[in-house]
Amino acid sequence: MRRIKENRIVLASHNKGKLKEISELFDPFKIQTLPISHFSDNEPKETEDTFIGNARIKAHYAAKHSNLLSLSDDSGIMIDALNGAPGVYTADWAETKNGRDFNHAMTKVWKLLDSIKAPKPIKAKFICVLCLAWPDGHDETFEGTISGQISWPMRGKNGFGFDPIFIPDGYEITFAEMKPEKKHKINHRHNAFRKLIDACLS
Ligand code: IMP
Repeated sequence: MRRIKENRIVLASHNKGKLKEISELFDPFKIQTLPISHFSDNEPKETEDTFIGNARIKAHYAAKHSNLLSLSDDSGIMIDALNGAPGVYTADWAETKNGRDFNHAMTKVWKLLDSIKAPKPIKAKFICVLCLAWPDGHDETFEGTISGQISWPMRGKNGFGFDPIFIPDGYEITFAEMKPEKKHKINHRHNAFRKLIDACLS
């Protein structure tokens, strides 16, 4: 496992929610984070059908364009009653003619669950794969998950993506109703990041 010796890291995402969460995770380590938008306005095509495959594509793209250590996040929500969908295609479910719309994606999910009369609790989990890629082509990957259930209607204004319909196990409020500091300490991204710290930073 290669350790992080660099004091700057490029975050291979254009998603404001992810950028905020990940840069806060690095705060205690005195590592400066730079968004990939400083180096490239384009995004590589996510052509793989696994979180790890797409995380690798994004991290290597950023390392190549910035010539710096880069970190990507590929994540999504898997719903048991939908055989794991939307899963690796979570962001795609939000696509509309006018760009990504997560209210549209959440409504689509709920209509599907309703149409198959999914029994409650509707179990789901968020997954996050973080990939560190160095400009010489080396990479390391870390996976984190958090289990919970889908609730309807949407509740809460914090967070991003599917947060308004996900209640983590052990709680009665959605991620979007939770204080961001709390969500960031228990979620899938944090769980993957803890593995990265243990392996590469501590
Ligand atoms: P991708 O990793 O860019 O393919 O997109 C993953 C998608 O999963 C995001 O656009 C969000 O909709 C969803 N997602 C990932 N992590 C979270 C989270 O922490 N909260 C809510 N939605 C998330």
